[in-house]
Amino acid sequence: MNQNRNIIFLLSMLALIFILTACRNNDDLNGNNIDSANGTQMIFCGASDPENATVLSEEEALSYLALVNRCYRVASDFSPEDLSVVNVESVRGPHDDHHLLRESAARATEALFQAALEDDFSLVAASGYRSYDLQTFYHNHAIDSWGLEEARRRSAIPGHSEHQLGLALDLTISELGYELVPIFSETSAGRWVNEQAHRFGFIVSFPDGREAETSIVYEPWHIRYVGVDVATEIFYANQILEEFLWHSNAFME
Ligand SMILES: [Zn+2]
Repeated sequence: MNQNRNIIFLLSMLALIFILTACRNNDDLNGNNIDSANGTQMIFCGASDPENATVLSEEEALSYLALVNRCYRVASDFSPEDLSVVNVESVRGPHDDHHLLRESAARATEALFQAALEDDFSLVAASGYRSYDLQTFYHNHAIDSWGLEEARRRSAIPGHSEHQLGLALDLTISELGYELVPIFSETSAGRWVNEQAHRFGFIVSFPDGREAETSIVYEPWHIRYVGVDVATEIFYANQILEEFLWHSNAFME
């Protein structure tokens, strides 16, 4: 009898632990600090204080799925070693440096631009890899223009930029005066990019209506390389990278 009672007690405790664990994960899906199955942390953290961000190791930062957002950043001296000139039309003048991206992203960009051209869209590269110092320059300029809070919605905090990963590219077209503006999404070229970029391994990192999670306003011009398989999955599932990583337990692999 006592033994039965002990077993029932044990099973009850196990059930309670299971329920508490499940609740905790659900709660955390709307907030912070989710422990994923492989022991790493997966975070949706649009409102988090970037001062508390975790710094990715060099190995993590070199993953094509490296996540930089309000809670993850790269070291200020991080720079990928395989940066390569992107041979596409660019808004920079002939005396400036060419845009750089990591090797795979650079070749994928050339394929994307070629495919766009075949459909009569002349895309123009506006910004590729940025060092920490260059991002600081842009971000400080944004703060001067808009103030700190607004600047952080429109410009990644230094160390938190996908441009420093060497995987992000900003696109524009001559019809928009080569500017980076939301109306890009309403142009036929912008629609083409939104529909086709995944075929070349790119996602739109900051989709419309996802600012609460990404902390960044809708940027239809900013695409980021993750590889064709992941980009395709994210595109059809209407996800942001955080969601893909969480659902696939692929965080930092
Ligand atoms: Zn960008």
